[in-house]
Amino acid sequence: EPVIDNKTLDLHYNVHYRNYTDKLNKLLKEVNYSYKYTPEYLAQNIDIIPLNERDEILFNLGGYLNHSLYFYNLTDKKKKIPDGMLDLINKYFGSFSIFKEEFINMAKEVKGSGYTFLVLDKNNKLRIINTSNQDTPYYYGFTPIMTIDVWEHAYYLKYTYDRGKYLENIFSIIDFDKVYKLYLDNVKINS
Ligand code: MN
Repeated sequence: EPVIDNKTLDLHYNVHYRNYTDKLNKLLKEVNYSYKYTPEYLAQNIDIIPLNERDEILFNLGGYLNHSLYFYNLTDKKKKIPDGMLDLINKYFGSFSIFKEEFINMAKEVKGSGYTFLVLDKNNKLRIINTSNQDTPYYYGFTPIMTIDVWEHAYYLKYTYDRGKYLENIFSIIDFDKVYKLYLDNVKINS
């Protein structure tokens, strides 16, 4: 509060996120999945999963991963953006305000339900991308380090049709310490 109301966050975390997580576990159990890989690895190597089970698992795995990142990268504390993160944003987007504008404009373009992400590409370059429904950037060869959920369930109770206002406000509580940490961790993994 006041960026996002308690009821929305409660339903989003305890019902939506929980449902994806529970459904994913149920589906993985049905295919005798061994849990030897991380969810991120599984998302990048989905051929491990039998073809006829894949659609349902991809949807719920994406739902689990995307919501995990969304809740992880929000904060209730006012924080300074780390210098290293600012340097990266300046390098790839020109300035923080340009980055913010591009990110929010991309998020306004999501058709129907989906997400906007800041991702690393294969060469560890930063890009902003959208995905539909519960697709995660891992399915397209990207590593997500920041996201905003633009499904209507993420904002409709408080903002109704005003997605732009939701985006402007939710952007102000993104925790760039965590975004930068994910950047550093993943650059290490990818190189
Ligand atoms: Mn959601």
